[in-house]
Amino acid sequence: MRLAVYCGSSHGFDPIHADAARALGGELAAAGVGLVYGGGNVGLMGTIADAALAGGGEVIGVIPQALVDREVAHHGLTELHVTGSMHERKQMMADLSDGFIALPGGIGTMEELFEVWTWGQLGYHAKPCALLNVGGYYDGLIAFLDSMVASGFLNGEHRAMLIEVDSVGDLLDRLADHVPQAVDKWIGRRDL
Ligand code: AMP
Repeated sequence: MRLAVYCGSSHGFDPIHADAARALGGELAAAGVGLVYGGGNVGLMGTIADAALAGGGEVIGVIPQALVDREVAHHGLTELHVTGSMHERKQMMADLSDGFIALPGGIGTMEELFEVWTWGQLGYHAKPCALLNVGGYYDGLIAFLDSMVASGFLNGEHRAMLIEVDSVGDLLDRLADHVPQAVDKWIGRRDL
């Protein structure tokens, strides 16, 4: 079982974002869930990778060659895949993962979340997508998504595919509800 986490290549100004990234990295490791992420060692990306590694978790990074220097590829990971393009990176991250989580981030994070969510909308996959709304960071986005539904541009069913949670504690349980094959392995290990 592996989850992809999309998150900022910055830390943001409020330390609650790094706290959430650390907490999620630790939770994934403790639950025996592998982390798939962008492979960088900067911002929240580096923070979550280090936390998962410190907890003994599996961490797989996927980074395009062109970003190896800019995002300071993390060389202490379980696996680091260097791809020829951004498209290959996103495809590989999606293929390796059983679900997707967006933490706070910038437009790169948004692009990755929206792409994988739209792939779900089109039926290319049936894997859950979740938004971790740390400290209300995504309140404005959530309001806009609801206004898309109200305006008739986003189907309510597709809107409901994006799971929203406010805390790391709820995240894995909410995702596990949507990944039936994961429940024994995942929740079972959390109960040990
Ligand atoms: P950001 O949220 O902008 O700090 O970026 C977070 C991650 O998203 C980084 O690993 C970026 O490489 C990645 N990213 C930036 N632009 C794109 C893009 N067009 N498609 C996919 N990922 C991107």
